[in-house]
Amino acid sequence: MVVRSRRTVTPEGERPLAVAVRGGVIAALRPYDEPPAAEESADLGDLPLLPGLVDSHVHVNEPGRTHWEGFATATRAAAAGGVTTIVDMPLNSLPPTVDVAALDVKRKAAEGRCHVDVAFWGGAIPGNLADLRPLHEAGVAGVKCFLSPSGVDEFPALDRDGLRAALAEVATFDGLLIAHAEDPALLSEPGGPAYGDFLGSRPQEAERRAVEQVIELAAETGARAHIVHVSAAACVEPLRAARTAGVRVTAETCPHYLTLAAEQVTGPAYKCCPPIREAANRDALWRALADGVLMGIVSDHSPSTPDLKVPDFAAAWGGISSLQVGLPVVWTAARARGHGLADVARWMAEGPARLAGLPGKGAIREGDDADLVAFDPDAEFTVDVAELHHRNPVSPYHGARLAGVVRTTWLRGTPVDFATPRGRLLTRGAR
Ligand SMILES: [Zn+2]
Repeated sequence: MVVRSRRTVTPEGERPLAVAVRGGVIAALRPYDEPPAAEESADLGDLPLLPGLVDSHVHVNEPGRTHWEGFATATRAAAAGGVTTIVDMPLNSLPPTVDVAALDVKRKAAEGRCHVDVAFWGGAIPGNLADLRPLHEAGVAGVKCFLSPSGVDEFPALDRDGLRAALAEVATFDGLLIAHAEDPALLSEPGGPAYGDFLGSRPQEAERRAVEQVIELAAETGARAHIVHVSAAACVEPLRAARTAGVRVTAETCPHYLTLAAEQVTGPAYKCCPPIREAANRDALWRALADGVLMGIVSDHSPSTPDLKVPDFAAAWGGISSLQVGLPVVWTAARARGHGLADVARWMAEGPARLAGLPGKGAIREGDDADLVAFDPDAEFTVDVAELHHRNPVSPYHGARLAGVVRTTWLRGTPVDFATPRGRLLTRGAR
């Protein structure tokens, strides 16, 4: 099979190329005008061809809270949004993925239901230190911990000593610990039901202090650590200094922190933790992406049923659904800021693939999986939650006018048809 595009997005930039696929793998990259002979071919002309995106931060919630989201619905949404690999978070499903037995339960729930490839994070909670190495050996991408309450009782947070112990443990097998970084000592109960009350209860300083703690303990233990969903501009300078000092800490952000603002919040569809902050905060996050202090953009797709999104920001479920629309949301804003498709591919495919230890994913490169997306960057559409594959029709992007439409998504060389689940369950480092 050959897919040709004059705008094939590679790690070296946009190139006129013919992508030859054999056995689900990119067998060769040839000049656009010299495609190799093939049984099947698609010529996209000037329509860009992107690598399939890798979303390393998705809460699928199956088993246990499948009514919030499940593997079939989440992976259909992913494919429709140009995402060909997701990495599932260890909490909100039941049991949480905090030991190998729970990972097996999760993998059985996913088996045969996935329309894109799926890898898994494990969890680090108080009392499961001895499970971290077995989880690593079973192929999780790494282990996730919370430094503040997670929102679900079965996944408690680590305190400072627990964080140090978890980092010291993952350092013994050169694993990866990823952290939800808000310092609980600097969080408070919202003083009322309004968005301003909620935002005031989770200040930038809480994020910055927690990020500094992870940096300090990663430096002390030599472990590799990663900060999930950075929302606060105040975290950028500590992260930059850590990188300069050679501490092994990376960080990501999310579409909502880059494109939404506290000033425009209209209801609980916008609630997430850490919170969406003031518009002025976003510029620093975009600059940090441009200079590499933030390595990627991932959805933190964390749905619930609509009844939990009550119109009281103190009580509503915190989580934003955006798996299917993350690419156009980011592209619309990135383009307005002068970024190109190669930047978006670096942030939404290559970076997360490297973070999660998934060789063969995240780039259009000879030898990699032929996960490809035909993407029309100029076509516009209006988001209608009722038309998304997400299980529950809740989204802060409902009604938004966005640029960028996914035309076709290929998973290992085969177009996703939304009926036949061809996704594989991935283990870290495996091809
Ligand atoms: Zn999350």
